[in-house]
Amino acid sequence: MMDCIFCQIVAGKLPSETLYQDEEVIAFRDIHPLAPTHVLIIPKRHIPSLAQLTDAETPLIGHMAKVANKLAQEEGVAESGYRLVVSSGEQGGQIVPHLHMHLLGGRRLSDKLC
Ligand code: 5GP
Ligand code: ZN
Repeated sequence: MMDCIFCQIVAGKLPSETLYQDEEVIAFRDIHPLAPTHVLIIPKRHIPSLAQLTDAETPLIGHMAKVANKLAQEEGVAESGYRLVVSSGEQGGQIVPHLHMHLLGGRRLSDKLC
């Protein structure tokens, strides 16, 4: 999906501040951070959203959460606390149509979810 910006980041065609990658996922800093730590964890494979995740792909979400926790530790926010957000679809606030998990931390986040 070369018209997808996150696929272009995976392919190295768009620059990103990559913090982690393995065979399944890549994690990089959000270009417009909403908190001192704002990292995106995405599958390398193009999956449009959580709603399109197949049964076989379900373990990917657990892996993304595990990677997020490892990065939270490296960013020094694991103890102070952090939030993982996966937006799905238009009303869910998803703008980039490639599944991604936001890791947000480093400041007190709003008590309200939305
Ligand atoms: P969404 O609203 O779809 O859940 O989040 C998409 C996120 O991707 C936004 O927080 C936005 O700042 C980030 N983003 C969009 N384009 C780029 C880009 O080219 N590079 C990086 N690092 N982040 C991006
Ligand atoms: Zn993509």
